[in-house]
Formats: sequence, C-alpha cells, structure tokens
Amino acid sequence: MREIFTSRPFLPPINEFVRYLKKAYDKHTLTSHGILMQELEQKLISYLKVKNIKVVTSATTGLQMAVKAFNFEVGSEIITTPFSYVATTTAILAEKCTPVYADIESDNFTIDADKIEGLITSKTKAIMPVHIFGYACNIEKIDEIAKKYNLKVIYDAAHAFGAVYKGVPLVQYGDVSVVSFQESKLFHTAEGGAIFTTNEELMEQFELMKQCGHVDDNFVRDGFNARLSELHAAMGLANLKYMDKIIEKRRELSILYDEFFEGYVKTPKKQSDLEYKYPYYVIVLDTVEQKNRVMEKLCEQGIYPWHCYYPTLNTLKYLETYYSCPVAEDICARILQMPFYYELDKKDIKRICENTVKAIKER
Ligand SMILES: *Cc1c(COP(=O)(O)O)cnc(C)c1O
Repeated sequence: MREIFTSRPFLPPINEFVRYLKKAYDKHTLTSHGILMQELEQKLISYLKVKNIKVVTSATTGLQMAVKAFNFEVGSEIITTPFSYVATTTAILAEKCTPVYADIESDNFTIDADKIEGLITSKTKAIMPVHIFGYACNIEKIDEIAKKYNLKVIYDAAHAFGAVYKGVPLVQYGDVSVVSFQESKLFHTAEGGAIFTTNEELMEQFELMKQCGHVDDNFVRDGFNARLSELHAAMGLANLKYMDKIIEKRRELSILYDEFFEGYVKTPKKQSDLEYKYPYYVIVLDTVEQKNRVMEKLCEQGIYPWHCYYPTLNTLKYLETYYSCPVAEDICARILQMPFYYELDKKDIKRICENTVKAIKER
C-alpha cells in the first residue's frame, strides 16, 4: 500500500541540482553574498514580476525582521490572526510585542477585517494578517484601517508565492510581505524565505539586518544572521525551472478533488480577483466527529491528511490574554489539509476521495 502524505517537497533532477552546486564549488563560496543566492534573487524578481526581494533563511526570521524594522516600543500591540502556523505569533513575541487576535472569515479563513477596528488601542502599531492557503486577505479594508489609525501592515505571505491579486503580485501589498521557501511550501529552497517591500529604505534596512547590521567594519544597527547558503540557493534555482509545471499539475489535482468532493465537503470560497497558484487543498467537514472519522479512516488506509493549525493561536498557553475567536476555533476543529503534491496522480486522488466520502457517509 503506497503511503500518501499531506505534502512532499518537489525534488528536481539531482544532476540539475548538482550542476548548480558545482558553480558554488568552482567559486569556492558557500554562503554570504554568493553568486547562486544573487542569481536566485534575480530570477525570482523576474519570475514573480516584483520590484525587489531579499532572500533570507526562513519566513519566521523574515517576519521578525519586518517587525524589528519598525522599531515598535516594547509591549506594542500587533493585531493578527488566530489561524496560522505558530510562527506568525512567535515573530511578534520575539520582538517583544503583544499579539492581539481578530477572528477570521468563515469562507476563506483570512482575518475578518471588520473585527480589527474594535481591537485597536493606543498601543496598537501594526496588523499582521496571513494570506492563508494562498487566499488574499481583505486588502482594501485592511489598508483603509491602517491608513486611518497609522498602522503598519506586515503580511505573512508564507503561502502566497506567485499569487496575483487584481493584476499585482500579492506580495506587493501592505508595507512588507514575507514568503516561506520551506520544503512544504509551493516553491522551496529546503529552508528559506523572502521579504518583499516596495519601500526602498526598508529594503536597505533588511539588507543590513540580514548580516547582523554591518557592512564590513561599519556596524550600523542590530540584526540577524539571515544569510541563505549557496546550497539552499542551488535547490531553489533547480526548482524554479519547474514552477509552471508544478502549479499546472496542482491545478489539475485541485480540479479532480473538487469533482470527487462535490456535495460532500466545504472548500474555501474561490476569489475571482485572485490568480490562485494552488499551494494547498483544504476541506471543512460538517462536524468534529466527522473530521475525526475521516482522519481515522484515511490513516488506516495509509493516507495522512493534516489537522492544520490546531490549536488556534489565540489559545496558546503562554499568552497573557485570551481573545475569543469562535469562528477560527470552530473551523480549526473541522478543517483538514489534504494530500497535495506533484507526485500524486488521478488514481491517488480517487483513492483519497473515495475513502473520505465513505467515512463521511458512515453512521
Ligand atoms: C511555513 C509558515 C511560516 C514559517 O515559514 P518558515 O520559512 O518555515 O519559517 C509562517 N507562516 C505560515 C502561515 C507558514 O505556513
């Protein structure tokens, strides 16, 4: 029985990966301002059609750099979403700011922009929403609130690689956006990430921060070691060639899922303004019992979906204040991230869906 996982990284042909590695060997450079890292940045700028980019070691680090860039006072509040990978919250905490949770939309699981304003206090300095599963947040409304209250907007765009909203790359909205290149994401460098901003001065700060805040002997500010190695850049360059093919395959798998699941499960609402790039496929079951049954049934069959982002971040034990987010807590208890990766084929999707539907129909 072939095991099916929630996600598996795309692996480019090893000789193509090695060909890039050889370039690093020939240069005898493995990190810092390496030629492969620079080539990766240039190729990503043209592939994503963005103004500029700063490749870093992870999205988590990138998010922390974004918060640090604005020099918020200790204890400043950042309004964020309870439904995300924990890094969205830890990046805020690591910079000694306080996460404040606004509930989410029930149809696409992004932050509910109508819930933001009621949470704003004199300490609020920023909003950190997530384009969860690659769906666009309510950008216009968030922008309007940010302008009105003079708040920064930092998008956790970990899932938003390649997405285009109203003709503009999704990562070019807000003050800063951060994408993840970790192996489970749509595009990967094994580990890695990138910061995007259209603000040149901020970009200069990120370049500085990325190397502990200094240029040679000129120590300008504090920072991080966020330098992506040439080995990681090689993986990214080898992968990038296949992105269109990967996205097309995922689009096809997504259509198959939609067809098999029609009438049985809920899926996020499609957004007509968004060029979606299929980073994930998630379903929402009717009840927690039904979700548990599906999970159990699939696991018995060697199929492993993931109860993504459970528990919701507003319930983390180490937070000082609990913000009630009933929509997120409810959806989080019923959502499953389904197997979704390049190697899967129609037979796999059929097997997954038949077992899922069987579990749904039980009882
Ligand atoms: C993966 C992920 C991150 C963290 O990315 P890393 O590159 O692993 O640090 C942050 N937010 C979301 C929503 C993620 O899925």
